[in-house]
Amino acid sequence: MLSVAEALERVLTGVPVLSAESVPLGEALGRVLAESIVAGREIPPWDNSSMDGYALRAADTRTATEDHPVTLAVVGEVAAGRIALHELGPEQAYRILTGAPLPAGSDAVVPQEEVQRDGGHVVLGRPVKRGACVRPRGEDIHAGDRLLEPGVVLRPAALGVLAALGHARVSVHRRPRVAILSTGDELVAPEAPLGPGQIPDSNTYTLSGLVLEAGAVPLSLGIARDRREELVDRLREGLEADVLVSSAGVSVGDRDFVREAVETLGARLDFWKVNMRPGKPLTFGRIGERLFFGLPGNPVSSMVTFELFVRPVLRRLGGHRTLGRPRVRARALEPIDNPGSRPGYLRVRLEPLGEGVGARPTGEQGSGILRSMLLADGLAIIPGDTRIPRDGEVEVILLMSDGSLSTRA
Ligand code: AMP
Ligand code: MG
Repeated sequence: MLSVAEALERVLTGVPVLSAESVPLGEALGRVLAESIVAGREIPPWDNSSMDGYALRAADTRTATEDHPVTLAVVGEVAAGRIALHELGPEQAYRILTGAPLPAGSDAVVPQEEVQRDGGHVVLGRPVKRGACVRPRGEDIHAGDRLLEPGVVLRPAALGVLAALGHARVSVHRRPRVAILSTGDELVAPEAPLGPGQIPDSNTYTLSGLVLEAGAVPLSLGIARDRREELVDRLREGLEADVLVSSAGVSVGDRDFVREAVETLGARLDFWKVNMRPGKPLTFGRIGERLFFGLPGNPVSSMVTFELFVRPVLRRLGGHRTLGRPRVRARALEPIDNPGSRPGYLRVRLEPLGEGVGARPTGEQGSGILRSMLLADGLAIIPGDTRIPRDGEVEVILLMSDGSLSTRA
């Protein structure tokens, strides 16, 4: 039997990163950068005022006091988007608004609240320091600064920086396309009335959601009956995707034809017994360039095996630097039991607890109990045949976070 880590390593072996495509900046949020971004210009591009006030030469104000104020002649006005028409001479000031470039010859700005305006003059009762209220050219970003590296997820601030650097488009990795097939004679679409023995197909929706959360694009192939030909037809439609994911029909039951159907399409399949609970044998293979995962049918098992094995593959394909979810150490808020011999991935809710975090099981943990996932913030990894006592420490995989913490170069 393989450990989860060994199975994951095998699954990830040889998985490439998908090629890059250029997208408009407005569509790039959440995409994974495929190029290095080096600043091609200074930001801000020129010294400019951070206040509404008066640009001046600091040296002219050196002697200013309340009793012996300094008076400067106002020789012009400059607003954001304009430039000053002439250079500032000695004993002169320029009316200036926030964001406007500093007039040549000036080296400081005094805010309007700190002076008296007297017709064509301003009167200062205090000296102004050189550089006061000036945002110098390049104070934010210098030309040549390395700002973003391939693999970072583009967040709003990154889009702003790209725009400020003059990029209208950006190179990002193609998102993996993931075909999802539910299999089973008992399954019907959620809107259909339930006939005898039928249940709604929920895996299509949980798995599509997980695909989207992994930054990939789901394509639903619908429901296939437990019949070889139908499975082959549906799976063939999925060959346009990068990854095919089916659920159910891969155990050794008489009606489990998924394996044969995938092999008909030319797949080479591996079946691994993975040392975990929930989880059945993990079926994995390649159909040409495409990857195939045959997940178990039980709603919780399919979600957990997706989390542990499919998600990292989708992240690798998509060019992400972090493949796994972040993990935290938490304290058990009540005893957590794993009576089985295999390591258990138990659904827990997390709560603040002093400086740290507490974990509480979400109730009944059977592999068909989807409600246990509904309430879960994380999966607590509990060794086989173990009871974690109240206040004991557990390791928890955070289901709500993607682990890409920073866009720093
Ligand atoms: P199987 O792997 O085909 O034996 O299925 C295991 C269990 O998962 C059975 O109880 C199925 O009814 C259930 N199941 C399979 N596929 C789905 C699905 N798409 N949605 C909800 N339950 C499912
Ligand atoms: Mg079945």
